[in-house]
Amino acid sequence: MPGLGVVLVGDDPASQSYVRAKERACENIGIYSDDNRLPAETSEAELLALVNRMNTDHKINGILVQLPLPKHINESKVLMAINPAKDVDGFHPMNIGKMVAGEKAFLPCTPHGIIQLLLRSGVKIEGAEVVVVGRSNIVGKPIANMLIQKSATGNATVTICHTRTRSLAEHTRRADILIAAAGRPNTVTADMVKDGVVVIDVGVNRVEDATKKKGYRLVGDVDFEAVKEKASLITPVPGGVGPMTITMLLYNTVESAKAAAGT
Ligand code: NAP
Repeated sequence: MPGLGVVLVGDDPASQSYVRAKERACENIGIYSDDNRLPAETSEAELLALVNRMNTDHKINGILVQLPLPKHINESKVLMAINPAKDVDGFHPMNIGKMVAGEKAFLPCTPHGIIQLLLRSGVKIEGAEVVVVGRSNIVGKPIANMLIQKSATGNATVTICHTRTRSLAEHTRRADILIAAAGRPNTVTADMVKDGVVVIDVGVNRVEDATKKKGYRLVGDVDFEAVKEKASLITPVPGGVGPMTITMLLYNTVESAKAAAGT
């Protein structure tokens, strides 16, 4: 049975709900999950000790440390401590380096999920003009990198935009495939896209909504209702990239278990 070690430090509500969803998904497909909820005051040394224990625990094939970590913990030190062979989030520099070099590696789950969404929806990536809004280490940079690889899942021409981009709309209007990962509602509006564009909305934003029991609802970075009229394909929020991210985490964990078993 494949095993996933899950670590959540602190009580950030969004992180709690992501971790719950990941654990539920593990349970659904028969992955054992070693659930570690630690208080926000947990020291860096305690967290590193836990990661080290999981690094050598044969029941655990993948280690997931939910980000962000509290400010007093050095995130990159913790990610570096994860055994690259169990780095199912694909955030260890060894896996990032391999990904950039086009070698076999654990691919980060959100960008890998995006590639699978495109492939399985029959979207032609090769030669496509792709515009990525956002340059984070977990979404923008890796998805741009994966799409420029000289491979069957790459060969796109990619533009990366961020807050210092001079005219965002000038770039987004060129996109055959537009990937929005800015973390801000309405970053992409209908006037910013061309007819027939394929839109991948990565954003998950809470906006106040008094009609909801929780007092908020989730929206993406794209003005879905207006942009869907011009797009040939568009992912919803929730229900698009999020579930695919979890799926690729499970995929990486199963791959890791297979490698550990020598199959
Ligand atoms: P992040 O680290 O905050 O990065 C946001 C990026 O967007 C930055 O590079 C920022 O530019 C850029 N940006 C922000 N506003 C912009 C604007 N108006 N115009 C152009 N660029 C803009 O965020 P992240 O971790 O990549 O996450 C992005 C969103 O995706 C969030 O809503 C997050 O919750 C969501 N997310 C969802 C999943 C999932 O599984 N569904 C997974 C990961 C993330 P600068 O670099 O110049 O600041």
